[in-house]
Amino acid sequence: MSGDRQKTFYLETFGCQMNVHDSEKVVGTLLQEGYRQVETVEQADLILYNTCSIRDKAEQKVFHRLADYKKLQAQGKKFGVLGCVAQQEGEKIFERAPHVSLVCGSASYRNLPQMLAQLESIQTDGAQAGEPAIFETASSRSPAFSPAGRGISPTTLPRTGSLIRITGLDDRQTDACFETEFTARTNPHRGYITIIEGCDKFCAYCVVPYTRGKERSRTSDSVLAEARQMADLGYTDIQLLGQNVNSYNDPTNGGRKKRSFAELLAAVGEVSGIKRVRFTTSHPRDFGRDIVEAIDAVPTLCDHVHLPVQSGSTRMLDAMQRLYTRQQYLERIAWIKAAKRDIAITTDVIVGFPGETESDFSETLSLLEEVGYDGVFSFKYSPRPNTPALSLHDAIPDQQKARRLEVLMAKQRELQIPRNRKYVGSIVEVMVEGQNPARGQWIGRTSQNKTLNFTAAAGKFPQTGSYVTVIVTASFPNSLVGEMLQDGGCTKTAPM
Ligand code: SAM
Ligand code: SF4
Repeated sequence: MSGDRQKTFYLETFGCQMNVHDSEKVVGTLLQEGYRQVETVEQADLILYNTCSIRDKAEQKVFHRLADYKKLQAQGKKFGVLGCVAQQEGEKIFERAPHVSLVCGSASYRNLPQMLAQLESIQTDGAQAGEPAIFETASSRSPAFSPAGRGISPTTLPRTGSLIRITGLDDRQTDACFETEFTARTNPHRGYITIIEGCDKFCAYCVVPYTRGKERSRTSDSVLAEARQMADLGYTDIQLLGQNVNSYNDPTNGGRKKRSFAELLAAVGEVSGIKRVRFTTSHPRDFGRDIVEAIDAVPTLCDHVHLPVQSGSTRMLDAMQRLYTRQQYLERIAWIKAAKRDIAITTDVIVGFPGETESDFSETLSLLEEVGYDGVFSFKYSPRPNTPALSLHDAIPDQQKARRLEVLMAKQRELQIPRNRKYVGSIVEVMVEGQNPARGQWIGRTSQNKTLNFTAAAGKFPQTGSYVTVIVTASFPNSLVGEMLQDGGCTKTAPM
């Protein structure tokens, strides 16, 4: 990373959309600091992993990657662990993977430029070629950290060993959001906007409140400014992100009226040039009727709500500390179903939470039938560090969890067949996402977030990012098939 050659980095992202979007901001920050992004670990001076610790498997992946590439340290490459595993494991990562130089949780990303400068200064000033470098730890817990979050100073760092050790581990009390004008978005048509960071719900199984810190919302003015800027750049599809978007709490904004989440959603939908707005994730406790009213009133808001239920048993919901009952959840579903538009509903389910009986599990299965979801993301319960559920004794054997997961997935697949079949014969608008040349099809996404693979008449070549109308001709459990209508709104020339 020294000399005149441009510094290079490789970044791999694990986990949810929040992580994907955090990575876009991290990449933007690195580019701004003079780095160039490369495609392979071998080409990179700095190798970064943006990690997920929501389940044990996700967490293990990063340690496997670090072990796989450890030998590259001999070539002078530096390794950094970002995100939830970084925050959760903190300085223990240096013990488990001593070749790691940088450990940074998401609440400290705004300090990345200082950390990178520190990493570079150590390399250029601290160590001669072949000689191990020196420093250790700048974190919220070390005297080297300034509360303003700007003061990581290499000069005050203790020289305690033979390794470079830089940490950004703001605790959960931080009020700051990671706002940057340098987001390097990976899709030119569809983009994310974070509206709220962290989580204060503390569900019994979940690490997020510990890894992403307390709930903090961006001002609605700043969110709207970002949406307008994206529209000016040609983006037409915006997804508002947060662990709980509907806990959104507009901070005081120069005395102006605060916007509720539903008002913010509607305002983003009214930004000129924006054709689609999605939002994820909603927590059922905070899901108000006003969100459904906004969807009904503003045509650009997509016909889709993701409302994670986790379990159909009120007893389990209570043990999970979800703050609602099956009945209260079903009330929200009834509001969504009463909308003027046909809103697709998807959810998340955890099977095998400690104490889950066959009877609890069958309540989850009956809930799937009662709601008629368009999609379900289902997971085996994975015990996570620091969470209250760790102290529960009546663990479910893995085999049992696996069986319940299989039963649930088979049930949902069966339920999706008639749900998708009802679209056959309807005419829908899709955003073109790409092409599948082997099948002679284009890939589209409906407002209801369904994948619709379609053919177009000879000589028609729909452009990625454009919107075309398609008639649905067939359905599968997880996708629809269709034909683009003649006036589907595409170009007549082949894409380059
Ligand atoms: N904030 C969202 C909510 O309240 O539903 C969820 C965010 S979480 C990143 C995504 C999903 O991961 C959860 O809805 C849950 O189903 C699953 N999940 C979280 N912790 C888990 C654990 N310890 N084991 C298995 N699945 C888990
Ligand atoms: Fe995790 Fe619950 Fe917060 Fe969702 S609401 S992020 S599941 S603690």
